[in-house]
Amino acid sequence: MLVNATEMLQDAVKGQYAVAAFNTNNLEWTRSILQAAQDSNSPVMVQCTAGAAKWQQGFKVVADVVADLVDYMGITVPVAMHLDHGSYEDCFKAIDAGFTSIMYDGSHEESFELNLERTAEIVKLCHSKGLSVEAEVGGIGGTEDGVTSAGELADPAECKAIADTGIDFLACGIGNIHGLYPDDWEGLSFERLSEIKAEVGDLPLVLHGGTGIPTEMIQKAISMGIAKINVNTDLQVAFARATREFVVSGKDLEGKNYDPRKFLKPGFDAIVDRAKELIVDFGSKDKA
Ligand SMILES: [Zn+2]
Repeated sequence: MLVNATEMLQDAVKGQYAVAAFNTNNLEWTRSILQAAQDSNSPVMVQCTAGAAKWQQGFKVVADVVADLVDYMGITVPVAMHLDHGSYEDCFKAIDAGFTSIMYDGSHEESFELNLERTAEIVKLCHSKGLSVEAEVGGIGGTEDGVTSAGELADPAECKAIADTGIDFLACGIGNIHGLYPDDWEGLSFERLSEIKAEVGDLPLVLHGGTGIPTEMIQKAISMGIAKINVNTDLQVAFARATREFVVSGKDLEGKNYDPRKFLKPGFDAIVDRAKELIVDFGSKDKA
């Protein structure tokens, strides 16, 4: 069933597990994520960036596909349809399109005050419509133009100020990075995580860049208040690896394997399998 993300993440904080938020790229991607969650009896968040929504011809297509698949597949576990890293303008488009949960990423605004002001505005609008809201403080590191920056550490006082706008969950940098982690990555800062947690109390915290963080580190972060973990690259790698194996082994040349339903099946099966493994690692299996 399609819901906002407030209750599932509050439950995750109480139960000391995290809900996986998987990014979707197309119909089969969404279908694979939903299948993995249903098979695992786990709550799940299907999320989409503006870029991936543009690829799929708009937020409404994405939201409609999620809603229709939840209906058609008879999905009974809680599913939130979440905007990932929305700009101020994206938020309004996703709200109109039927998303049940919105991330306004004001970390790129020209000042923290503007981030704060716009977050408060989005919270007011979303809550009037029954939608949940994620905000971001500081930036999440990553590779841009071939230069990998270390993950930023969010300012605990800024986290507290944003939390006070009434958001439902908060993305805060604790040394995490989008994409694949470099070999010399210093790891998550548990010290900063506990400082932030001390300021925001039971507010669910979000770990972006969930691909490739060692499982013990993930589980320690969950025990300290991380309740949502974003996973994008990991499933892309799983899909690409399985598709590549299918082609390199020559199986694509057998029978009617040129049929896209056959050609792409190993990749989508790999997404289901990998998503199930992550759901176990994050502790949300059988928590629906
Ligand atoms: Zn992110």
